[in-house]
Amino acid sequence: MRLGNMNSWLGWAVAMVFGVLLAAAALGKTRRDRWRADLASAYAARNDAAVAALASRFGREEERLWRRLLTARGATEEAALEETRARRDLEDVLASLQDAVLVVDGEARLRFLNTAALRLFGLRIEDVLGANLIEALPSFGLDNAMRAALRDGQSSEDELQLYSPRLRQVFLRVAPVFSGAGARTGAVAIVQDLTELRRLERVRRDFVANASHELRTPIATIRALAETLEAAGQDEGAQERFLPPIITEAERLSRLVSDLLDLARAEDAPTSPFAPIPLRPLVASAIERLRDKAARNSVSIEWMPDGAEPHVEGDAAALEQVAFNLLDNALSYTPPGGRVNIALREDGASEAATLEVADNGIGIPEDDLPRVFERFYRVDKARSRAEGGTGLGLAIVKHIVENHRGHVEVESRAGEGTTFRVQLPLAQRGSS
Ligand code: ADP
Repeated sequence: MRLGNMNSWLGWAVAMVFGVLLAAAALGKTRRDRWRADLASAYAARNDAAVAALASRFGREEERLWRRLLTARGATEEAALEETRARRDLEDVLASLQDAVLVVDGEARLRFLNTAALRLFGLRIEDVLGANLIEALPSFGLDNAMRAALRDGQSSEDELQLYSPRLRQVFLRVAPVFSGAGARTGAVAIVQDLTELRRLERVRRDFVANASHELRTPIATIRALAETLEAAGQDEGAQERFLPPIITEAERLSRLVSDLLDLARAEDAPTSPFAPIPLRPLVASAIERLRDKAARNSVSIEWMPDGAEPHVEGDAAALEQVAFNLLDNALSYTPPGGRVNIALREDGASEAATLEVADNGIGIPEDDLPRVFERFYRVDKARSRAEGGTGLGLAIVKHIVENHRGHVEVESRAGEGTTFRVQLPLAQRGSS
């Protein structure tokens, strides 16, 4: 072989080898690139098994790195999930609170309101979130307390009135909010609506004042009459004059105390379970007890049970008192010659028993009608006193009926007559 030929052959061989090596390298590169792309897609698609398999093709070290990455991602996602869950739990708790909760940030912008807060202030969350407190809720008391908490880090408590959207009496507690690192980041207010509580306190105070006044009147009369009697000495005429009114006043006192006790009992929710009882005998018994009064007042009673025998779950003595008080009133406020109709019905559709006491007596003026169930409310005080009334009869009726999950209503026209209608749920069949 000639030297020249030999050289060109070698050159070709070297060139070939280079060519093959370059082609192999290029091939290897595109395949690794494809793996990388697959790896990235598997990671994005959260296919952890594929990520681990593909990563192993790049060697031990890289596989370990990818596995660590997968573990870290899992932990971060679990933590985020846990945080969302915790926040949702907290929001559920705050939403079910009766008290309003509001949170503002450091610039007094509203950041959170629970359902009670939206209800109390008559707001929609989308209208106020991020808004300035005083612009969203025009209450200077609340705004001042929140700003003091933001400015000085002061907690405060105060009772104040909200004027919008309705007049409310509220108890306000405000406290600054601190971040985990101890920086002051905002303030939180808890607003308790005391309106109903204050109303009940007022009702109770009025009741005590009324009851004391009602009790004081006969006591003062008895005392004055007794002193006059004492001063009259042996005067027999004085005894005849002063003893009967003393007895009348003592009886009034005794009726008042007994009605007050009945009312207290009726106001207490029943403790023992009710037994199913038939209503008809109770109404009949109340009528019998009032026959004399009806005769004395020359008022006739028409009793019209429709043959049904409604049973209700209840307290027999209390239910008889309902019938008694309504009939007693009808007889008291119906002039001689008048008539009282008593009806007892069972309505299967509404599953209720209805007791109706209707008279053609003096009636109740429209303005007084909504108030007759209030304690001590009387349309004509003098007439009620003359009839031996205490002003508590209808309040007792209402409480007893409501304790039996029932409902009482009144219809009346002054000068024409009055109808009281009591509805009580029938006892469940099979329980009698
Ligand atoms: P009272 O002891 O005064 O009767 P109630 O609570 O039973 O007290 O009744 C309250 C008031 O309602 C009575 O004072 C009377 O003015 C009015 N009232 C009740 N029942 C009747 C009725 N049937 N007809 C007219 N007025 C009635």
